[in-house]
Amino acid sequence: MPFQSRIFRKLLWRACVVLLLTFLAVEYYARDYTQQRETEHLREELGKLGLALSAEAANIPEEQLPAWVNQTAERCHIRVAVGAIASAPLDSNSLAVATPLPGIKRDLTISESLASVDQAVSRVLWRIAVASLIVACVTLIVIYLFARPITVRIRQLQRAAEGLIDPRALGELPSEEPDELGDVARSLRRVSRQLRDLLEKLSLESSQRQAILSSMVEGVLAVDQDFHVVFCNESFAAAIGIPVSVPERVRLLELVRDPGLLDLLTKVVREGETIKRRLPVNAAEGRLFEVQAAPLASASGRGAVAILHDITDLERLERVRKDFVANVSHELRTPLAAIRGYAETLLDGGLEDQRNNRRFVEIIQAHGIRLNNIASDLLVLSELESGRPEAPPTRVSIAGAIEAALRTVESEARLRSINLVVGHLDNSEVLGYKIRLEQAIVNLLDNAVKFNRPQGEVRIETALLTTGKVRLVISDNGVGIPSEDLPRIFERFYRVDKARSREVGGTGLGLSIVRHVLERMGGSIQVESQFGKGTKFTILLPAEPAPVSN
Ligand code: ADP
Repeated sequence: MPFQSRIFRKLLWRACVVLLLTFLAVEYYARDYTQQRETEHLREELGKLGLALSAEAANIPEEQLPAWVNQTAERCHIRVAVGAIASAPLDSNSLAVATPLPGIKRDLTISESLASVDQAVSRVLWRIAVASLIVACVTLIVIYLFARPITVRIRQLQRAAEGLIDPRALGELPSEEPDELGDVARSLRRVSRQLRDLLEKLSLESSQRQAILSSMVEGVLAVDQDFHVVFCNESFAAAIGIPVSVPERVRLLELVRDPGLLDLLTKVVREGETIKRRLPVNAAEGRLFEVQAAPLASASGRGAVAILHDITDLERLERVRKDFVANVSHELRTPLAAIRGYAETLLDGGLEDQRNNRRFVEIIQAHGIRLNNIASDLLVLSELESGRPEAPPTRVSIAGAIEAALRTVESEARLRSINLVVGHLDNSEVLGYKIRLEQAIVNLLDNAVKFNRPQGEVRIETALLTTGKVRLVISDNGVGIPSEDLPRIFERFYRVDKARSREVGGTGLGLSIVRHVLERMGGSIQVESQFGKGTKFTILLPAEPAPVSN
């Protein structure tokens, strides 16, 4: 209400001061004026009365004058005296007028109290006071009626300004009357609309940015100048092994313990330069990251933003590629050197050496076969890796492929006294390439035979799982694979025991081919092995539903 309004109180206070000053001024002038006017009036009256009485006194003998004075004073309710000319007034609180008496050298002095003047002044002042009071009341009412709607509108404006970003704010704005407050309301309405548009745009941009950052494969981390985390996306959390939801403005040290990363961010914040480094992040189990950190300027100071790009796989691929080229060269060099060496020996007289010439030629032939094996395996691999579409896949019977593969390795197994045991063979079918699948099974059986001991056993069996997959297991009780080599045996040219592999005619490409063939057919392969005890390869392939027979 207006009484609580500061504007109203200020207005009231000022009005009171103005009213009081006006009252004092009016009172001062009215008192002065009334006093003078009343005194003058009394003086005139007394003057007239003096003249009349002096005329009367002229007819009175001198000795009777004192008695006449007394009578006249009583009759006219005034004080009368006859004395020397220009005698002084009788007292200060009365007005005296002297009139000369004709014939005698005396004055007739009549005087009257000034009480009537004071009474007249009091009456005037009383009326002024009453009038002032009425004016004060009217002023109060006028101010109240004037301030009330203004106060209400100001309150509305205040609420609307406070809730500018609230959509309900517009509804609370006061009506737009054609005055200054109406102008303010109009401006506020416009500002509110612009502000809301701006906020909507900002929130859209922010959610877009959030979505982009969240879906990024790269880890993103932003810190402020005090090393408080401003933002970090899920990939970053995953990379350094922390929970996905990071509390707001948590200290970087509580989140990141990696000295390399901390050092990099500190440097960027201090020096304000972009730095790019390859960092192995401790928490990320040996993964390698390329971290690009750049300064992040804000109003409060300079922070930093770091983008972590996981290059572990890239690095590995690079290494594998380099190794591959080196391995191919190395693999080719040995048989080529042997062929060249023995050919030279033959030419340098070896041909005439009846005891050895045949052996030399056989060695050349063996290395030739090896070169051929490497070349054909490389060809198969490159075909598989090229991703070129082959002929459309056909239904392949697993049991059929296994039987064909068994026929291929049979003689080798017999030669090495290895027992081939065929367990349950399921008659399910898979979708793929018959020749390739046979080759994959041959490679696995061949390894199981070659990396075995005399009287060893190789077992093969299949089963149709409830998941709709066919499981093919090839196990042996041969030499086994050391656990540290297990993760690498599917790499090209990787061999656990190089000498033995070479001796048994291996190229180191067999398992790579197996993995590629299975991947092409939507399958997978797993290996378990105990060094010195045996190895078990488990293949899973999606089974083809049996065709509907009429
Ligand atoms: P290779 O041509 O040498 O057989 P593979 O790629 O087929 O090459 O196999 C890679 C390596 O894995 C082999 O050199 C061998 O050391 C090991 N290996 C594969 N299968 C077996 C197995 N059944 N038992 C023991 N070692 C095996």
